[in-house]
Amino acid sequence: MIRATIYNEYVQERTDAASLDFLQGWGEEAIRGIAGRAGEVLRAHPAGAIHATLKQALEECDDIRVRHIATLEHVEQELSEEVLADTDVLLWWGHLAHEQVPDAVAMRVRDHVQRGMGVIFLHSAHMCKPMGLLLGTSCTLRWREGDQERLWCCAPAHPIARGVAPCVFLEEEEMYGEFFDIPTPDELIFLGAFRGGEVFRSGCVWNRGYGKVFYFQPGHETYRSYFHPDVRRILQNAVRYLSHPELRRDRLECLAV
Ligand code: ZN
Repeated sequence: MIRATIYNEYVQERTDAASLDFLQGWGEEAIRGIAGRAGEVLRAHPAGAIHATLKQALEECDDIRVRHIATLEHVEQELSEEVLADTDVLLWWGHLAHEQVPDAVAMRVRDHVQRGMGVIFLHSAHMCKPMGLLLGTSCTLRWREGDQERLWCCAPAHPIARGVAPCVFLEEEEMYGEFFDIPTPDELIFLGAFRGGEVFRSGCVWNRGYGKVFYFQPGHETYRSYFHPDVRRILQNAVRYLSHPELRRDRLECLAV
């Protein structure tokens, strides 16, 4: 059984955002804005949270179980050493509050990936701390809300593309466009195309130490991309592809030979 863990920032779903301690420095207007849009996010995620949508998508498979769910509010405990050691693949969705994730948590995630854990960064997680630590570039890009995406597969023999249509049409998705400041991917699997003619490297894999990183672009908080059967299949395939418990190391060391 593949052990998955989901980290979701879990801010934009909260109609009670004003009660979150870590948002207090953001000002009343910003907090009101988040709470005001929460209804729209919840309409896209009727189970109540992005992590709940993702959990349902993964658990359609008999061989994947979500062992842990972590949110920003208690991330220090919920992504502890013990939790990460009990995780084959970590999925990470974040957007507004990347900076609120403690550096120690980001470094812990990076270390576990280098020692063999898989990590999937979703959509606006492109700017999160652990992705920056693992890739070493700014991961900046161009964006525009309110677009449509055609997700073209450019590696049909790749395990992440197994059973996925050659072109997946997403009726509503946010445009993410080049230049996307990432290291050249070790494996490029999907290219996104948008109405303005923009293109984007929407599905990329990098090897980092004994682990793998997958970045997957669809998944804006107010759209239903994670309900598209092909997107769900991509997430499920990616969890399988990134899971390598047999490679996992307790620590990394230079060996005198
Ligand atoms: Zn977005």
